Formats: sequence, structure tokens, C-alpha cells
Amino acid sequence: MSINDKVALITGAGQGIGRAIALRLANDGADIAIVDMNEEKMQAVAEVARALGRNATTFKADVSKRDEVYAAVDHAEKALGGFDVIVNNAGIASIQAIADLTPEEAEKVFKVNVEGVLWGIQAAAAKFKQRGRKGKIISASSIAGHEGFPLLGAYSATKFAVRALTQAAAKEFAGDGINVNAYCPGVVGTDMWVEIDRRMAEITGAKIGENYDKFVGGIALGRAQTPEDVAAFVAYLAGPDSDYMTGQAPIIDGGLVYR
Ligand code: NAD
Repeated sequence: MSINDKVALITGAGQGIGRAIALRLANDGADIAIVDMNEEKMQAVAEVARALGRNATTFKADVSKRDEVYAAVDHAEKALGGFDVIVNNAGIASIQAIADLTPEEAEKVFKVNVEGVLWGIQAAAAKFKQRGRKGKIISASSIAGHEGFPLLGAYSATKFAVRALTQAAAKEFAGDGINVNAYCPGVVGTDMWVEIDRRMAEITGAKIGENYDKFVGGIALGRAQTPEDVAAFVAYLAGPDSDYMTGQAPIIDGGLVYR
């Protein structure tokens, strides 16, 4: 099923998983609002979406700032004439041993990964209610939202928190016809993993690529995940086939973490 002519806003859509989600939803017939901090990358994604025949708009925002998230949602509605789906995808990595985490690093990753999702849920739910319409709220968790990994303690905590927000929001907004779910990817070959691998190598003395290869080696389906693998599942969450699903955060990781 498609989400033809719906309006979807995707944060962190300048590259990686967010870009793939934006283009998948555009390909499925949605008009898309691309939100990121990188203007140039957003424009490039918008051009591809327009070439697919869809309307696309961009809005520069830092998701950790509540006002900017609300402004992004208002912009999407005005520019595209509706508002049906938000994908709170933007997130950052934090690679540090628990023993060495600083207040600054912990605050930074919580601000983006947890508050960014919280403001996205809040702003989208307010907009759906204002419009008197149903809506779908979808957020990025992770396999690290189901299991804490070494050197990813703070990051894992933020992704567990996304599941908590998803469950609470699903219950609070069910009566308004708003479905709230999350997606939990495994090891996706994006810039984020380049950074995770680089920092893990720095901390553990491993070779560049070694930690990435170790993680990918544990995947039952035998390969790293692509952003498009994630986007396919998010398309399901954004569309009508998932209308009876709320408060869930399924793992889609090729068989690595089993719950
Ligand atoms: P990425 O680093 O490749 O891309 C992230 C995008 O988000 C970038 O375009 C960046 O500019 C944007 N961004 C970062 N901070 C932002 C902010 N404060 N406001 C607005 N935009 C911001 O990352 P990715 O691998 O595509 O990951 C996307 C999401 O998926 C993240 O939430 C990540 O935690 C989650 N995830 C990734 C993996 C993986 O293996 N890559 C696995 C599980 C979950």
C-alpha cells in the first residue's frame, strides 16, 4: 500500500538512513519535507524527490531545539498543504567508555537523540490534533535500544529512551487516531558507522574496519544493512498497512539481536 499524496516530514534526511526514507516515501507517492542541519545535502535530496514527480521542501533545523522542530512542522504544512507523517530520524553517535563519559558528551547525545525525538513527537501530535486528522509518528531507535553495547553506553541509553517515549506517546495519543512506533536498525553502512568504527579503533587500538567487520560478521543474513532496508520498513510504518500497530519498536537487523 502506498502513502499517495500524504505529507511526510523526515529529520536527518540530508544523508544516510533519513535520505533513503525520504526518497522511498517520495517514490511511494508522498510529498516530503526534508529537515536537517546541512543545507547543501538537503537540496540534493529534494532535487531527487522532485525528479520522482513529488513536491519536496527543505527546512534547516537542529532537532534538539524545540522551537526549531515546531517551526519545521509548520513549514511542512504550509509548503506542502498537509501534514500526515513525521519520521524522527536525526540522531548522533557517542562512542565512549562509561568510565570516561563527560557531562558534556552525555548531554549532547541526550539532547539530540532523546529531546530531538520528544520535540518531534510533541510537535507532530499537536499539528495532527490542530488539523483534526489522524497521523503517524515514527522514530529512530536501534538494536542498541534493546541491548547495551560496550563503548555505546550513552548512545544505547538514548535509544532505550526512544522506546519509552514511543510506548508512552502511543498510549497518550491512541484516542486521537495517532499511531506511534519506532524502528530499530542493526549495522547500517552509513557515515555514522564510519565514525563509530573510527572511535572504537581509537579507544581499543583495533584496526580501522575491524570493529565494523566484527559486528557485520555476526549478522545471520551475512551482510551489512543498507539504508534502503531500513526505509522499506519505515514505509510500512508510514502507510495504512500498519494502522493496527502502535507503541512498538521492532528490530530490523538481518538477524543480530533477537527479542
Ligand atoms: P548519519 O550520521 O549518516 O546521518 C544523520 C543525519 O542527521 C545527518 O544528515 C545529520 O546532518 C543529521 N543530524 C544530526 N544531528 C542533527 C540535529 N541535531 N538536527 C537535525 N539534523 C541532524 O546517520 P544514520 O546512520 O543515517 O542514522 C540515522 C538514524 O538511525 C540515527 O538516529 C541513528 O542513531 C539511527 N541508527 C543508525 C544505525 C546505523 O547503523 N547507521 C543503526 C541503528 C540506528
